Amino acid sequence: MRVTRFAPSPTGPLHLGHAFSALTAAARAQGGTFLLRIEDIDRQRSKPEWERRIHDDLRWLGLAWPEPVLRQSERLPAYRAALERLWAEGLLYPCHCNRRDILDAASAPQEGGPRLGLDGVIYPGICRGHDRSGPLPADVPLRLDLARAAARLRDPLRWTETGEEAGERKIATDTLIDSIGDPVLARRGMGTSYHLAVVIDDAAQGITEAVRGRDLIEATPLHVLLQRLLGLRVPDYHHHRLIRDETGRRLAKRDDARAIRLYRDGGATPADIRRMIGL
Ligand code: GLU
Repeated sequence: MRVTRFAPSPTGPLHLGHAFSALTAAARAQGGTFLLRIEDIDRQRSKPEWERRIHDDLRWLGLAWPEPVLRQSERLPAYRAALERLWAEGLLYPCHCNRRDILDAASAPQEGGPRLGLDGVIYPGICRGHDRSGPLPADVPLRLDLARAAARLRDPLRWTETGEEAGERKIATDTLIDSIGDPVLARRGMGTSYHLAVVIDDAAQGITEAVRGRDLIEATPLHVLLQRLLGLRVPDYHHHRLIRDETGRRLAKRDDARAIRLYRDGGATPADIRRMIGL
């Protein structure tokens, strides 16, 4: 049976881009199950009011999903267990670098200048030599040692893309080391990071196809790598087009002007919204 999900963060209003993503995910379930998941690991920016409105806007659009809804803020023990496992395998190291430290180190002549990866400047490995012995440290930022992780997996990463450029994907793990750098898997005060939480929860919820925007396409090889390291099922991935404003810029949370709420208040119907986003 097919299981898809829409996984918004309750940090602002849902806009037309979210409506497109949610409706696409629900349609891709094709009679299976469509799930809502609240990605609220960022406790500073997540607000109950935004969460309430997400439920309300999605229901108004005609979507339905089983309750209870999984909220990532309630899943910290599951993330912790995954970190314990990676730590025990020597694949994580504590890292206290801030943006400035990373930029400075990446700008050193021998590094060849800062290059951008998944989450900003590619991490130049400053803390890679830090102590990895003893128990998993509590509430310390942790990075994945990509080179070591890649060495664990002999064969390339494989998954199926079902979006616009559908087909089988295969990536050598070495390519990853060079293009994304050691990612943060636990942030201070969060106990996880987006990359770790999304992978653990997609597996826990039995997601068969992860439907999301093309802006996340570059994170997919890392997600497949984490699935392989943690022995989790690799879902299919469907990266859909992004909804853009008149100037061609993709919509972001701050684009309140395109908030579904505003169109609702202005008298638009769910059918109008579908038309606006080309569905
Ligand atoms: N929570 C993410 C967002 O709001 C989506 C994560 C995903 O679909 O993988 O952009």
